[in-house]
Amino acid sequence: MINTNEILSKYGLRLTKSLGQNFLTDVNIIRKIVETAEVDKNDLVLEIGPGIGALTARLAEKAGKVIAVEIDRNLLAPLSETLAGYGNVQVIHADIMQTDLWELTSGWDGSLKVVSNLPYYITTPIIMSLLESGIPWALLVFMVQREVVNRMVAMPGTKDYSSLSVAVRYYAEPKLSFHVSRNCFIPKPDVDSAVVKLKKRSLSQPEDLSREFLFRVIRASFSQRRKTLLNSLGNQPWLEGGKERLKEVLTGMGLSENIRAEALSVEQFIHLADQLCKKKPL
Ligand code: SAM
Repeated sequence: MINTNEILSKYGLRLTKSLGQNFLTDVNIIRKIVETAEVDKNDLVLEIGPGIGALTARLAEKAGKVIAVEIDRNLLAPLSETLAGYGNVQVIHADIMQTDLWELTSGWDGSLKVVSNLPYYITTPIIMSLLESGIPWALLVFMVQREVVNRMVAMPGTKDYSSLSVAVRYYAEPKLSFHVSRNCFIPKPDVDSAVVKLKKRSLSQPEDLSREFLFRVIRASFSQRRKTLLNSLGNQPWLEGGKERLKEVLTGMGLSENIRAEALSVEQFIHLADQLCKKKPL
């Protein structure tokens, strides 16, 4: 295990809060993350934000190949020191949000996993862009703030249920793996964390319904959480037939006119969006 403080002082590194730099120093947590991802030699692992490489090194021991994307140029020298003994790691200096994920991960015969202690300032955009990218991942394992895990695994009708919960369940089966104390990092973050595991799932979707329209409906439905669907989704200018049409569809689905977004499962959102995108017969 690398000595984080020693490396930071050797390279004169100051960690940048705005880049979400909280480095894992607990060897047991690192081991548990890699175990959770069930990494083996068949796997290509994409790691977002390797930092100084504590998790990367452990991933490299188990995986066939690791591609680690780090935005901070100052970390490249310490990273290459930590990873010197591993021939199966490719470090890429880039912003993950500006990276072509298909190009990055193509050409691997085995399975693709993404494992990351995500930078907290950009957790949801990274998760959404991975989910929406369509790259053929088999498993995602993320360490994120506890609140974000709660939202990811939330069930309909609960206070944490949000558009993120619906999006995650559209693509995956999420499961809280374990909690991580803030004492396991340097520097210590202001929040506690948890590890979440997302297994790929394929929901059947009606042919006429585009994913773009479905997610437009989901986002609009949650845009004003306290309002009913009729007053959030129903007021969108792009919704053909407006409130009246929405009322009809809700009734047809056996749902109350006063229902709120937080009561609908992903399957119900799919059905709702499918009905709303159909032209009504004259
Ligand atoms: N993996 C290391 C660990 O567990 O100790 C570091 C995790 S730290 C929470 C997040 C890392 O992501 C930092 O190294 C940070 O520089 C990097 N990072 C932040 N924004 C990024 C981005 N947009 N693209 C790639 N890396 C990013």
